[in-house]
Amino acid sequence: MSLEDVPSSSDPYRLPRHMIPSRYDLRLEPDLAVASFSGEATIALTVKQTTKTIQLNAVDLVIESATIEGVKGQTFTASVELEPDTQRAKLTVGEPIPPGECRLHLSFHGKLNDQLRGFYRSTYKDATGARQSLAATQFEATDARRAFPCWDEPDFKAVFATTLVVDPRLTAVSNTSVIAESIENNKKVIRFAETINMSTYLVAFVVGQIEATPPRFVGRTPLRLWTVPGKHSLTSFGHDIAVASLTFFENYYGVPYPGDKLDLLAIPDFASGAMENLGAITFRETALLVDQQTGTHAELERIADVVAHENAHMWFGDLVTMAWWNGLWLNEAFATFMEMLAVDAWKPEWKRWDSFAVARAAAFSVDGLVSTRPIEYPVRAPKDADAMFDILTYEKGASVLRMLEQHIGSTAFRDGVRQYLRTHAYGNADTKDLWTALGTVARQPVPELMDGWIFQPGFPLVTAEVEGNHLRLLQQRFTYITETSTAGQLWQIPVQIRLSIGDRTEHRKLLLTERETSIRLPAGVTSVFVNEGGHGFYRVRHQGLLLQQLLDQGLECLAAIERFALISDAWATTMAGLTPLPEFLRLPTHFKNERNKNVWTVLLDSFSFLNRIVSSDDRAVLEAFVRGCVKPAFNELGWEPRSGESDLDRQLRGDLLGALGKLGNDAATQQEAAERYQRYRNDLTTVDPNIVPALVTILAHTGDQTRYDEFSERYRTATTPQEERRYLFSLATFRLPSAAKRTLERTINGEIRTQDAPFIVGALLSNVHSREQAWDFVKANWDQMDRLFPKQGLRRMCGGIVGLATPELEKDVRGFFTSRKIDLGGKTLDQYLEQLRVAVSFREREGGTVRAVLMNATE
Ligand SMILES: [Zn+2]
Repeated sequence: MSLEDVPSSSDPYRLPRHMIPSRYDLRLEPDLAVASFSGEATIALTVKQTTKTIQLNAVDLVIESATIEGVKGQTFTASVELEPDTQRAKLTVGEPIPPGECRLHLSFHGKLNDQLRGFYRSTYKDATGARQSLAATQFEATDARRAFPCWDEPDFKAVFATTLVVDPRLTAVSNTSVIAESIENNKKVIRFAETINMSTYLVAFVVGQIEATPPRFVGRTPLRLWTVPGKHSLTSFGHDIAVASLTFFENYYGVPYPGDKLDLLAIPDFASGAMENLGAITFRETALLVDQQTGTHAELERIADVVAHENAHMWFGDLVTMAWWNGLWLNEAFATFMEMLAVDAWKPEWKRWDSFAVARAAAFSVDGLVSTRPIEYPVRAPKDADAMFDILTYEKGASVLRMLEQHIGSTAFRDGVRQYLRTHAYGNADTKDLWTALGTVARQPVPELMDGWIFQPGFPLVTAEVEGNHLRLLQQRFTYITETSTAGQLWQIPVQIRLSIGDRTEHRKLLLTERETSIRLPAGVTSVFVNEGGHGFYRVRHQGLLLQQLLDQGLECLAAIERFALISDAWATTMAGLTPLPEFLRLPTHFKNERNKNVWTVLLDSFSFLNRIVSSDDRAVLEAFVRGCVKPAFNELGWEPRSGESDLDRQLRGDLLGALGKLGNDAATQQEAAERYQRYRNDLTTVDPNIVPALVTILAHTGDQTRYDEFSERYRTATTPQEERRYLFSLATFRLPSAAKRTLERTINGEIRTQDAPFIVGALLSNVHSREQAWDFVKANWDQMDRLFPKQGLRRMCGGIVGLATPELEKDVRGFFTSRKIDLGGKTLDQYLEQLRVAVSFREREGGTVRAVLMNATE
């Protein structure tokens, strides 16, 4: 979309298009001691039509002066009016500014806030225990306007030339290399090189006592990691994946890295996981820093994912940017898809595409709601832009890209991406531009195929059944709650089928575009698996004979990702009331020999869900059922790692152990866990890191006040971000009401960082032992939480209400959000409330018989 196409003067959230910025010269002087900053901006503008007003974005800033210097040297002084509701500044001059080039000079000042957005302050304790501050930025989606007045929309791309004026003891990092440094008036003045043409939300500054690793080079690009002092021993793993993924992307995209250097910075207070500012990527510490010796597989994988994801954005997002926030999925889905490709290439033994199935299933769980939204969805207000950062944008988006890649072939897909990047470099693009590039290269009707997945909500359930010598396939939208209005929806579904005929296999590929189709089965078919390879973004119900044939043949004949799909789809149809619960609960017996951690994730998640809906009287029966399922598998793995075991096996041991000790409430396991934890405290090397989180969880679950105090202290004195996080979250696992009370208080009294606090409250809401207490606390302290917590965190915290799965609590939750008129942006709140409805209606449907069903299944 070109700039002139959107003359949306009627929309209070879009700026008029009669002035176009092309360059910002910024000079910012933060004062960490008093948490404020002052700034000057000179913005080069093209005036398209004669005007007396300039409108641009600014919020929480004081604009001291605004002057405009015209082409012919004339100067206009503007009056300034701030419009907080629309986050704009309106500058008005006495006589009209003629079309042509002009320069706008602004001086302004603001506060370094504690909200983790805009230009903000982060604090930490140094080695002596003294409190230190640093200043950092987080501009996406619409918070650059909190640091300097600007045209804060992604298609107003411009060049940025930044100068930071700082205390001489501090260091400053921005998007580009330092080109000059001097001392003026006892201040260090640091000038940075010009950026490429880019969006405001990608500008970044970090100022503080920060230290860099030596650079490692990818081609000519120096790549460094930055931390607060004393954390350099935690940088090597992040550095490795940063180098590996940047190299991978240069090759894959066929376009050089668009910046002049790349810095990855770990910030002690950070609202999201990381932010892809061009050349200066910022991270929360757990997403970048780790001790490779004590980190678990899951913790290392998380860092690899996030670093690769942000690096992927340097092209997808930074070099080519969506035209408006409705197209955010283009950035995020692509970066998520590319993160998988890069991590899979770096550590093939991690089988990253297999574990991506867990993320795909998480997307299904939201997309199966009537209140889901299409991937591409209208955005107006900043709150709606923020709400787009959700599982549908990331995980559903990446899943449909993976499906398309598998459908058109990975080489055609890559070449289409290359063409798209070359065509739109330094500019903006939208969804159809991508489909055009991919369709041209693949010589296939990609837009027709993809439109249904991007522009309509939900996903299909494919029902497969045998009729005579035919396989009949039927598509309908999957929803948990029966909803007749979705009946007409159809997708173009690339379906891949495997037919087993004795020892022989045959494959069928078809595009299911109608409501139903059937294919002729060859003689002697012994089993049929629909969604071979598990890449499709649809669920499958293998009906009657088909399911029985798969079970009889033995699940080991399926690939791990297919077993995952089978059990995950079965659980989803059970939650939707399409499969009877007893039928689902018979399935785990077929997984007795299962050693894939992703498959186990589905089983354990289904047990956790049951744990939230059973009455407390039935909980002991559920615990016995969990022990019956998990114990044989855990016993076979044993407590100690074996030689030749994969990282994935080690992670599975930890997952099963945690389930056995907590959900299964197994006394023998709890006792052994306590002994092993004691040994671990005496000598950290005696225990495999992958079971440490389970030990901590079990001890918290069974812990008393003394244990609570101990874990609080470990949280306070942890030496790695992962250890800190582990002990922090353990505080939400204690069953003691006094512990939950204390933890809740700490979320709003400053003891727990606001980057973490909402997640802790969310965990307490999801914990069946503390949920009512946590909910009362949220209601009583909502205003304070709304003020203190980053908006994104507050939204995620509210996700915890899904755990309040009793009819009484559900009623109370609805009443609270309605009476307080709370809006979390987009459809977020509707989705949480519907997920809660799904859980409560499951309880109403199955709750009366679940005890008998579980006892039956245990025998
Ligand atoms: Zn991203």
